Amino acid sequence: MSTTDLRHRNVPLEMTPEAFRTAGHRLVDEIATFLDSVRNRPLTPAETPRAVRHLLPDALPEEGADPATLLAETAPLVFDHSLLNGHPRFFGYIWASAAPIGALADLLAAAVNPNVGGWQLSPVASEIEGQCVRWMSNLLGMPSQTEGLLVSGGNMANFVCFLAARRAKGGEALREQGLPRDAGRLLVYASTETHTWIQKAADLFGHGTESIRWIPVRSDLTMDVDALLRQIEKDRERGDKPFLLVGNAGTVSTGTVDPLRRLASIAREHDLWFHADGAYGALALLTEEAPADLAGLREADSVAMDPHKWLYAPLEAGCALVRHPGALRDAFSYTPPYYSFDDEEEDPSTNYLELGPQNSRGFRALKVWLGLRQAGRDGYREMIGDDIRLARELHRRVEAEPRLEAMMCALSISTFRYVPEDLKPGAEAVDTYLNELNEGLLHRLNKSGEIFLSNAIVGDRFALRVCIVNFRTILADIEAVPAIVLRHGVEVDRALRPTSSFGTSR
Ligand SMILES: *Cc1c(COP(=O)(O)O)cnc(C)c1O
Repeated sequence: MSTTDLRHRNVPLEMTPEAFRTAGHRLVDEIATFLDSVRNRPLTPAETPRAVRHLLPDALPEEGADPATLLAETAPLVFDHSLLNGHPRFFGYIWASAAPIGALADLLAAAVNPNVGGWQLSPVASEIEGQCVRWMSNLLGMPSQTEGLLVSGGNMANFVCFLAARRAKGGEALREQGLPRDAGRLLVYASTETHTWIQKAADLFGHGTESIRWIPVRSDLTMDVDALLRQIEKDRERGDKPFLLVGNAGTVSTGTVDPLRRLASIAREHDLWFHADGAYGALALLTEEAPADLAGLREADSVAMDPHKWLYAPLEAGCALVRHPGALRDAFSYTPPYYSFDDEEEDPSTNYLELGPQNSRGFRALKVWLGLRQAGRDGYREMIGDDIRLARELHRRVEAEPRLEAMMCALSISTFRYVPEDLKPGAEAVDTYLNELNEGLLHRLNKSGEIFLSNAIVGDRFALRVCIVNFRTILADIEAVPAIVLRHGVEVDRALRPTSSFGTSR
């Protein structure tokens, strides 16, 4: 090794402007070609973990390499060995096709690299995040004093709201003394359809999962409000302290919306913090297709929503919104609290590290903000509305196909299953087999590269689940779904069907 010359350092990570320009232009060209090719690519290469591992270098190199060569090698590695969720026939989970402007925004954000923990460290980035949060609150019709911040996703957004709620309802002493140990346990109320973030929150923040009161759902999978009221009463009588009521503004599994207005008024009556989990569904409020109950989230004390879902931002972007000014600072700030009740004033000194759990924070607002500006409110209304209309179109086609059993259709999720013609659900052995068959079918479909779905459990039935959060999907993609499902369904049935065949002949 040569002796270092600190006057003219050798910096193996630096790129000359020329090298950056050439490698960058080439990469952008390759990305443009990739995006143009997505529809014609298989959705997945369906490779084994071992096969994918073999594509990577064996060992950490001792010496470096030319960045242009590395990028030229790595682009096809990533294009060709990924599950393509930007494919028009990607319908799995609630995982949006990413807006191309988001990819460019991330490049720009990383190039400047502001730290959006402190205003001084990120003047324009902090202001853009503030505007982004106000715009999102405005899109949902939340009150203008609403505060919030961007986080990594729905889980973190719900966590932040959970912590704001318990600080508000549990009092300031809780920050020093922790949770009450014996009497007066802080309890949480949520339906059995609630996303698993609630378990992580109760566990990680020291409440324990037994502090969750799982409220049963009605047959339409919305919270049974009478059961909720009975449970609250019982817990209060025992001397526990109900503090948080969670309503689903679109459940993760089937897209159902809890009776949010009713929950809001129950929360007010019983001095609970009302939190709406709108990670998926909140933005459906923009459309005429939204169920009436969804508007109840405007009465919530806090709302979690996910720009990386229905704002089509690339991962990661979640957003926590809290209607009470100062509530986030009360929960997270460790410098003298600063309250601003006048939301119309630009507050140049928002230091986001005081409003949430993170310290150093990236500029994730940029991709969200640029997406909002590119599409506008009207653009989002149209894209989200189309997603919902396409899901309904699919559901109609499923209903019309005798070998498919339609289950639920809510927001942009349709659930159904394959039932071979000669099988009648109802008998236990048949029901068990149908679950096994549809689970096998899901795995086969997801390896086919033609389509990608996920699953839901509806009652006791294993359902195939199509969730459309995808601006690339068009009617032809939806029309293709039943035939693809049936073609693979017949094959899986042939392979799995027990020889006894439930007493029916084949
Ligand atoms: C997606 C989702 C979450 C979790 O969000 P992540 O962004 O995956 O962390 C929580 N709740 C609901 C209702 C969701 O749809």
